[in-house]
This record gives sequence, structure tokens and C-alpha cells, in this order.
Amino acid sequence: MAGNVNKIDSEFLKRDIRYLKGVGPKKQSLFRRIGVKTVEDLLFLVPRRYEDRTKIVPIKDVRAGEYVTIQGRITLKGNRKLFGKEGFGIIIDDGTGWIEVVFFVKSMKGLFPVGEKIIITGRVEFDKYYHKPILIHPEYSIIGKEGYDEVIAGMVIPVYPQTEGLDSRFIRKLVYELLQKEIELTDYVPRAIREKENLLPLVESIRKLHFPDSVDEGERARKNIAFRELFQFFWRLNLEREKLRKAHPFNKKGQLSQMFLKNLPFELTEGQKKVIEEIERDIQKNVPMQRLLQGDVGSGKTVVAIYSMLRAVENGYQATLMAPTETLADQIFLVLLNFVKGLPLRLALLKGSTRASERKQILRDLKEGGIDILVGTHALLTEDVEFYRLGLVVIDEQHKFGVLQRYSLWKKEEEYTPHLLLMTATPIPRSLALTLYGNLELSLLKDRPAGRGKIETIIKLERKRDEVYSWVFKKILKGEKAYVVVPLIEESDYSKERGIQDLFNLYDYLSKIKPEGVHIGTLHGRMKTEEKRRVMEKFRNGEINMLVSTTVIEVGIDVRDATIMVIEHADRFGLAQLHQLRGRVGRGNKKSYCILVVSDNVTEDGLERVKALKKHESGFELAEIDLKMRGPGEFLGTRQHGFGGFRVFHFYKDRDIIEKTRDYVTKLRENRIKLTDKEKEALMQLKEKLREAYYVA
Ligand code: ADP
Ligand code: MG
Repeated sequence: MAGNVNKIDSEFLKRDIRYLKGVGPKKQSLFRRIGVKTVEDLLFLVPRRYEDRTKIVPIKDVRAGEYVTIQGRITLKGNRKLFGKEGFGIIIDDGTGWIEVVFFVKSMKGLFPVGEKIIITGRVEFDKYYHKPILIHPEYSIIGKEGYDEVIAGMVIPVYPQTEGLDSRFIRKLVYELLQKEIELTDYVPRAIREKENLLPLVESIRKLHFPDSVDEGERARKNIAFRELFQFFWRLNLEREKLRKAHPFNKKGQLSQMFLKNLPFELTEGQKKVIEEIERDIQKNVPMQRLLQGDVGSGKTVVAIYSMLRAVENGYQATLMAPTETLADQIFLVLLNFVKGLPLRLALLKGSTRASERKQILRDLKEGGIDILVGTHALLTEDVEFYRLGLVVIDEQHKFGVLQRYSLWKKEEEYTPHLLLMTATPIPRSLALTLYGNLELSLLKDRPAGRGKIETIIKLERKRDEVYSWVFKKILKGEKAYVVVPLIEESDYSKERGIQDLFNLYDYLSKIKPEGVHIGTLHGRMKTEEKRRVMEKFRNGEINMLVSTTVIEVGIDVRDATIMVIEHADRFGLAQLHQLRGRVGRGNKKSYCILVVSDNVTEDGLERVKALKKHESGFELAEIDLKMRGPGEFLGTRQHGFGGFRVFHFYKDRDIIEKTRDYVTKLRENRIKLTDKEKEALMQLKEKLREAYYVA
């Protein structure tokens, strides 16, 4: 059995956790729940926190609410009832004072003979009845007794993520035993870098990750391992780059792009000019552009996209733009038609709802080169969509698409890879973007086009709802338009319990109190696309002047003269989403308002979020705050799962080493770091190893 193996090497790491002594099928499946499948997963399982048990606290100083380690003698034992549960209690005395420790598992009573010396670690609770600190089911070990658990006493102890039936204590023992073995693993980070960065040796880092001498040392060890992970990650991205084929360079600047710029009814912002230059540099090369354009809502990304597409067309290639929803595709298509009026271009729009006969015609034209620019939705991704000479792909709101979807647009094409421009309005902190999109170049549109009205953000408690709406109605009667966003469509039991206003509920409420002249429409995800489109159209032309909707309006909708955004239960939304919603207003030159209605008993977190939104206008600042508050989940949604194969690297804590490791890898690629033959060989091996690993963004 592998459990008896004395050396941990790369072979051993791949073994199922099941092979470790003490792990049966039941534990095996519990381990899966915390993401541990293999020995390697276990070895790199990051403790949630550490408990410093090196400091023994005198019992007289023990206070409720703290984690403490105490040591003393058992002086008394007896039955005890607490919280209505039967159990037993022991009294521990260390000469400075005594404390009661309660256990509810009666069969354990025999484990604590009076007179024995014991060491105990746990969170101190407060016994309200007797008005004193108390410990409930703490970790313990009887000192000097057979089976004395050295793993808990007098050390800095890792506390792992746990799940019902699999406690930290068991995991800790398992890891402890594992670490008794000799570890032989290759450190792929070359010595020159290790020395420069003062890195601990890999094996030492692994040991200290679990059993450091101090909490700080544990954190340092973790970071040392994160450095290796990032290093491998960027090394792997390098490989992806090698895989890309050649691209068609768009050398010729022609009539189309220049006329387009000339006809624009406004000046490009400085940001737009800069981004266009960055794109120019890329598309004139025969290496495919891989660029992510990040820009807040309303920053003017569409113009940049259209310009890029025209650059493809005037060089004899086709371009395509994919948007995540039909509404958005429609909108972009309209904008496109409007901006390129009078230019000799053949445009088409392809959606899931496109009629079969029309679709057939479009596909035929596309294949024969009869279409220059194709705008569409996911419908572009089906097998039968074939281009004649695809030169550029633009993907709007790219985070709504999976990685594979992004690539499947041109996987078919054999010889050439089209230039790729990804766009997102979800502002991602640079640190995150660098890893998440590590193989992309980044462009940023920071400024909003001039002449935009300010947006004032106002926080209101739910009990002021009547006030809010009577104010909104007044504004509407003066000719403004308002969005009202709610989290849910219809009331579920869950929402009743929490007093959540759902869409239909709110609609009823508003219909009752609205004055003459306010026309309310509703929009939600269960409506047919055609219905949605009709409602949007009515909102645009003013037949509807108050639009109650779910977050379906979150992405990209552009109704210039909408000036009010009311977000119901704003405290239930994430920061990024709130920011997106707010971006629906302030698009014209009039002053706009974003009113955040929060629950009367809003949580601390919820309040912190809405306050941050009130304080900051820039999505990028909000993104940094969000990353700090919630981790990367908000940005990545579910797709973050297993992303990059990171086990230890933490987006926020390790943001300071991201660029560093990335730069080292670049230097290595450019042979700017001296390597020994052995190191060269190791890096080649790593390449092979990573080649087998799954695909990353
Ligand atoms: P987003 O980045 O959210 O996709 P859009 O491209 O839809 O933003 O632009 C938002 C609005 O701003 C559009 O109506 C667009 O015509 C307008 N716009 C874009 N660039 C400029 C500019 N330089 N000056 C003024 N208005 C602009
Ligand atoms: Mg847009």
C-alpha cells in the first residue's frame, strides 16, 4: 500500500487520497467535498487559519470570544446540562484559576481521569447562567498518556476547511503523518530567481505551510508556494501563445475606417485614441492580436470595435462581433448601421431567432464572402457558420462567454488565426486581469465621453419607499424616465420570509400609487425575446416611462434619456452588479440619479457595499474594493472554479507577486536569465507536463 511508501515524489502525489492510511471510501468522498482528491491536493491544502498554541494562557486571563490554549490538571468531573443538552463537565485548574470544559458525548467521560494533566485549545464561550467563561467541545490531549497527541500541543496548528464528518483534527493528523516522509519534488523556479526573491526551498515551504513556527512564517510559506504556482501558470500561458497560428496583418489604412472617423458626430476621447493606437500596433502584425479592452459602461467601446472591424474589411477580410444577448446584438447592429451609413459595407445580423430561410441566405453569403461584418449572438458558434476570410473577432461582454466559446469561432480555420478583441464592462482589477487573462494584452478605457451628466447616488431605507417613489413620479411627470430593478420575478416562500419585493409585487404596489401620466412596463427573463424587444422599444420612445425589471437590463442597454435608476434591495446585489446597473443611467447630458433602496435591517456587508458605490464612481476602484471584500468570485462567477489549477495562490493576498512572476517568465522566454543545464532540462520537462494539463484561459 502506498500509505507505507516512505518518499513523496511526483508519482506518489498523483495517488488518490484513498491510499493514505485511515482514509476509507467514506472519508474519500468527504475529502472530495473540500476539493481534495489526490495526495497532492492534500499536501497543498491551505489552512484556513492557524492557531497559535505555543502560547499557553494562564486561566485567570482567559476571556470569552478568544481562541486560547490552556494547560492544567483535571480537578473535578461531573454530569452537566447545558443548552438543554445532557453532557458532562470537567474542571481544569492551572494554579492561576479554574475553568469548566463541557462535552456532550457522554461516552467520552472515561477519557478524562481526575488528576491528569491536560492541554486544551478552543474558542472560549460565555456561560450566561453562571456568568463565567467556559469551553465547549474544545480540542484536547492528555499529557504524557499513551497516544498523546503531539500534533495539537504547544505548536502553531493549522486549521483546515472542514465539512460534516471530516474535521480539521483528522486532516491535520493525516498531513502530519504525510510530512514525516521524505519529500522529493522538483522546484521549477530556477535558482537565480529563487535567490533574487529570497524564496524558501519548495519542500521547506510545504512543511511550513502546515506546521510553521509562527503564524507569519505560515503565511510566508504560503506565498512562497503561490510564487511557484504563478510561475508555472505563466509558463503555461507561454505555451498557449506558441500554439497560435499566424494572422493576417491589416497593413493598409483605407477609406472605410477613415470615413468612419470623419463622420463621427463627436470627438474621440483621449482613451479611445490611445486604445485605437494599441489596436493598430497589434493588427498590423502577422501575430494574432489577443487584446482585452476593459472600459466602464458608457466609456465608448463600441466605437473602438467598429473601427477595428472596418480595418479588417478595408484589408479584404471579414469581421464578426458576438454579443451575449439578442437585445444587445440588435442594439449594436443598429448603432453600426447608424455609424457606417453611406459606407459601402455588407452587414448582417444572425441570432437564434433568425428565420431559417434568412439564416440560410446569410450563411451562404458569409461563406462566399458576400458579407463583410456579421453581428450576432451565440448563434454564431454553431458548426455551420463558416466564413470566407475571417480576419477579426470582437466579443462584447466577453465574460458572459466561456473560454471555449471564445475560441470556437475560429477553431475551424486551418492556417490563420483571426485577430481577437475582447471587450468587457466588468472592471477587473489589474492584478486579477493579469492572471485571469494572462495571455491577453490589456487596454483600458478610463474616461467617459465628455458632456455626460453626473450621477448622484442616494441610499434610502426601505421604510422610506413611499417617499422615494413619489419623488420619482414627480421627476417622470417632468419628462424623465426611470428604471426600477428588483432581484426576483415573483414571490417565493423564501422571499416572503425575508420581506423581499418581487417584480410583480412591486408592479402592483406602484400601479396603485402612480399618478396619471406615469406608464409602467415590466421586463424580465421569462419573457420572450420579441416581447422584451417591444417593451424596450416602448421605453425608448416614451410610451413607457417607468420600467420595472429584473437584472435582465444589466448588460449594455442604452437608453440615453433614462435618468433615474432605483435599485430595490440593493443590499442583496454584488458590487459589480450594482455598478453595472447604475451605468444604465447618466448616458445623456442630464443629471442622473441612482437610488439604492436597502432593507431596514441591512447587514454590515450590504451597507458597506452600497456605501462604497455611493463613494466611488469608477468601476476600477470599486473592483479593487470588491476584490478585497469578496474575493474574485464576483468577477469570475462559476467559471473561476478550478481556474488555472491554483491551489494556493490567492488573488488578493498575492497580487503583489503577479507582475513579478509574469516578468520572470518573460525574461526566461527571452533567454535573459542564466540557467544551468539541469534547470533548462527541468523547464523543458515542465513544458511537457503542462502540455498534458487541461486548457486554461
Ligand atoms: P460601452 O463602452 O458601454 O459599450 P458605448 O460604446 O455603447 O459604451 O458608448 C456609449 C455611448 O457613448 C454611445 O451612445 C456612444 O455613441 C457614445 N460615445 C462613444 N464615444 C463617444 C465620444 N468620444 N464622445 C461622445 N459620445 C461618445
Ligand atoms: Mg457596450
